[in-house]
Amino acid sequence: MSKTVLVSGGAGFIGSHVTVELSQAGYDVIIADNMSNCDETNYNGVCAILGKKLPFIKMDFCDQAATDKLFSENKIDAVIHFAAFKAVGESVAEPIKYYKNNLDSFLNILQAAKDHGTHVLFSSSATVYGEPDVAPVTEQSPRKSATSPYGNTKQMCEDFLRDCVAAYGMHGIALRYFNPIGAHPSALIGELPRGIPNNLVPFITQTAIGKRECLNIFGNDYPTPDGTCLRDYIDIVDLAKAHVCAVNRMVEGRMDEPYEIFNIGTGRPLSVLELVNAFQQVNGVKLNYRFAPRREGDTIAVWADPSLAERKLGWKATRTVEETLAAAWAWEKHLAGK
Ligand code: UDP
Repeated sequence: MSKTVLVSGGAGFIGSHVTVELSQAGYDVIIADNMSNCDETNYNGVCAILGKKLPFIKMDFCDQAATDKLFSENKIDAVIHFAAFKAVGESVAEPIKYYKNNLDSFLNILQAAKDHGTHVLFSSSATVYGEPDVAPVTEQSPRKSATSPYGNTKQMCEDFLRDCVAAYGMHGIALRYFNPIGAHPSALIGELPRGIPNNLVPFITQTAIGKRECLNIFGNDYPTPDGTCLRDYIDIVDLAKAHVCAVNRMVEGRMDEPYEIFNIGTGRPLSVLELVNAFQQVNGVKLNYRFAPRREGDTIAVWADPSLAERKLGWKATRTVEETLAAAWAWEKHLAGK
């Protein structure tokens, strides 16, 4: 009998790609989303890719009764939690909003998972490493003090999961994502930022399509080979596949420890300028960009040592950055009807 995975925030960028991969791997997926930060585009895209309508529940995980009802009415083997606010700048301006939403929703999920014997996968972030002393970072690298309420919620939720696993005999995995970019090769699902994008790749694609006038490259005087920041850009489909490996590991009882953490990245650092050049080259478009002052709070250089995920999850990134940037561009053109 197939197992059921609940994907909170399943209509969003990462959640929709994970839903596709889980479903294609044979899991029954229930999507739950309050649609506060997205429309139905990705949900419809997921159904189109899979050729079937997936169960969708419009709900807010800050509602404890609704969360418990969902777990009571369905036999849920594993839950993956994506339903959270994610804008760093907004979290600095509105910390209460971020703490209430991101912490309450996860506590309700943990309570329901404890009560119903459900495995928990938490979507964490490389942001927990802050500015690392040494790169690449391993899972053992120290977590630095968070520089934003958003980053703080990622650290706190990791700790919530660790403590619940220790206290209640649960099983949980936290995946620390580096910089997820790209879109599904079908161009039917992708990133849909509201307003002006904060992240680099949506800003690049929107500039290339003419929605934005010029890309600002924040800082070219960093102590890096070309002066721009170094990041580990991970393809969204590769990243989604890591979730299938992690869910398999939990539901098949193959975990070494009841709480495990894995870096999900490529292990390859790329500078902002290298990424911009690769985008121009692979897509044959000229990008209007200029160098601008550093963005406050930016880490200089961070990339993953993903070898633990390879050893234990049997996962590693396979797509090239060129394939990923071609997919991101195809998605932007799809949105523009081109
Ligand atoms: N960046 C940039 N221009 C933009 C957006 C981002 O130069 O319009 C740079 C940013 O300074 C960082 C890198 O791109 O060095 C990745 O930023 P992003 O916001 O995508 O992810 P982060 O690593 O901050 O989570």
